[in-house]
Amino acid sequence: MEIVKCLIIGSGPAGYTAAIYAARADLNPIVYTGMEPGGQLTTTTDVDNFPGYPDGIEGPIMMQELQKQAERFGTDVRIGHVTSVELNSEKGKMHTVTIDEKITLNAKTIIISTGASAKYLGLPSEQRLIGGGVSACAVCDGFFYKNQEVAIVGGGDTAAEEATYLANICSKVTMIVRRDEMRASKAMQHRVNKTKNIEILYESEVSEVIGNKVVEALEIINTKTKEKKIISITGLFIAIGHKPNTDIFRGQIKMDDLGYIITEGKSTRTNKPGVFASGDVQDKEYRQAVTAAGTGCMAALDAERYLGAL
Ligand code: NAP
Repeated sequence: MEIVKCLIIGSGPAGYTAAIYAARADLNPIVYTGMEPGGQLTTTTDVDNFPGYPDGIEGPIMMQELQKQAERFGTDVRIGHVTSVELNSEKGKMHTVTIDEKITLNAKTIIISTGASAKYLGLPSEQRLIGGGVSACAVCDGFFYKNQEVAIVGGGDTAAEEATYLANICSKVTMIVRRDEMRASKAMQHRVNKTKNIEILYESEVSEVIGNKVVEALEIINTKTKEKKIISITGLFIAIGHKPNTDIFRGQIKMDDLGYIITEGKSTRTNKPGVFASGDVQDKEYRQAVTAAGTGCMAALDAERYLGAL
């Protein structure tokens, strides 16, 4: 069985930064990319807040560059999805990891950088129409709704950013916000408010997605008055936050109520020796590319120190 000194699960900014540091420390890291190589930033347009890019950079390009940088120092980047793990509780002992339900390998250290995935409303009609007009990624799917009327649910930075993105492509964007204010930063709210073809419905929720094979309309309920109305749209975008991708670690590693991995103090150490967590999988607070990258660096340093002390 293949023995790996440092196995990195996930290929977002945390995973690749961990790989850059681990490779430079001769830990011969292997990165398994997961189902969304490059992570959430591959579904983003411009990243304007990552230091070092004064003119901004497109998310997918930034991820390609991070991968190249990790590979430059010898990181082995493999396409594959970790489907199960057996984490050892004894210091210095190997952990066993299965990829795509068929390849099994042993790892001395593991850096978990599996990130988080988009949340959905959970309505049966929404679930049935995923791929038929319901999407959680405006940047991926907005193009299909050129000159059409669409709606987006959420009031955070993602919803605000995606609403303005969609407004450039679609004839009209209805933004559905459940409270009487948005959670998004003031700058993002300002951008939404000054975009002419965005209409914001506050104190509103989607109660039904209407359509047989494709989305045709939405039933929207006003949370205060309980009044319902129907709006005709062809695309529904969900932007209500994310869920950490930790299902495969459940029961083996300490997590909080929401499923985020708990790390010790300021370190990236989990409760399992030799297992570290970096990026959104352990951070429900900041969730930025730059903070994910920072904790990726920390995880590689923590892994190096752990191996050095064995
Ligand atoms: P978020 O900040 O958690 O916002 C989620 C939004 O969805 C909130 O408005 C929330 O409403 C709403 N929501 C949650 N569950 C809902 C439900 N079941 N039905 C209807 N609405 C629901 O998530 P995010 O916008 O994805 O942002 C995540 C993090 O990334 C944030 O820290 C954000 O600042 C950051 N981010 C930054 C940028 C940027 O700087 N360019 C871009 C995107 C994201 P409530 O407010 O009522 O809870």
